[in-house]
Amino acid sequence: MDTRVVRINEQHIDDTLIREAGGIIKAGGLVAFPTETVYGLGGDALNPASSKKIYEAKGRPSDNPLIVHIARMESLPAIVEKVPEAAKKLAAAFWPGPLTMILKKSETVPRETTGGLDTVAVRMPSHPTAAALIEASGGYVAAPSANRSGRPSPTVAEYVVEDLDGRIEMILDGGDVELGLESTIVDLTTEPPVILRPGFVTEEALAGVLGQVERDAALFSGDSGQAPKAPGMKYRHYAPEGELTIVRGSAPAVTDYINAGLSKGRKNNKKTGVIATDETIGSYSADVPRSVGKRMDVNAVAKGLYRILREFDDESVELIYSESFDGAGVSQAVMNRLLKAAGHRVIDV
Ligand code: AMP
Ligand code: MG
Repeated sequence: MDTRVVRINEQHIDDTLIREAGGIIKAGGLVAFPTETVYGLGGDALNPASSKKIYEAKGRPSDNPLIVHIARMESLPAIVEKVPEAAKKLAAAFWPGPLTMILKKSETVPRETTGGLDTVAVRMPSHPTAAALIEASGGYVAAPSANRSGRPSPTVAEYVVEDLDGRIEMILDGGDVELGLESTIVDLTTEPPVILRPGFVTEEALAGVLGQVERDAALFSGDSGQAPKAPGMKYRHYAPEGELTIVRGSAPAVTDYINAGLSKGRKNNKKTGVIATDETIGSYSADVPRSVGKRMDVNAVAKGLYRILREFDDESVELIYSESFDGAGVSQAVMNRLLKAAGHRVIDV
């Protein structure tokens, strides 16, 4: 299959192009598009054949459910059993935006889209191109991240091309995404609601609206003995090909530990990499040193992380050390993804 890559400007959205892309999705095809979180791989959420194609294109296990994207609140009732009060409140506070809600699904949503579950994940993205495409596609677009399964989610269209060229009909290139990590997922089918995946809509922000909210025990621990409640979170994800270790502790101890590890790696002829910040990057002697930006600017850290993980693969880095980014708020999302990328390999120094 030839994949058409077309540039799209969110300030002046080309209607003809969006109609064409929407037509592809309505006809059962797949179009990758920018959202404010990461690039999504879109298909008709109400067409079982489209969902199957999404799984095939990504090489994703079919028990890993897809998020259904909508562009307006009026679209929600048709795909859920009912719209609970909590969902209305969260939508008023955070939609359109980087929040996904898990709700009981209606008959309208095929089980191919929900990985066999009787719940459905729903999000209303704020990116103008995403919203326009959803409208042009009939209102319901199933869209996981537009990467091959197991690779970091794409933050630029070039990475979508790298992973999916020849496997999908079209890629809308909207440049850099704004946020760089996937949406927060909150399960509203339980009381109190549970955060299944941390993101830019933070635990604190959710608690502000919902009163009480819990965290899936598997989010930050590799050996909680509990399977994560979001089926997708159990798969090896975001992982670079090299062995990644997170080092946690006081700044000087972390630098010493990492530099010792790097020099040992080099003695064993391993190509080395490090993930650090502007403040510390100069003190490491890695073959591929990468700064995620200023430590205080957690949004920049979040935005740069996946690009850096992909660059390590491009450079065939074999041994990688990362500083730790513990904290509240968006840091929880950063640490959750970093821990998964590292297979929960963490050293406390
Ligand atoms: P992605 O779209 O690639 O960011 O992945 C979607 C994430 O949402 C995966 O981790 C899924 O397991 C999760 N998800 C989607 N639908 C549901 C659902 N009905 N219940 C729980 N988790 C879900
Ligand atoms: Mg994904």
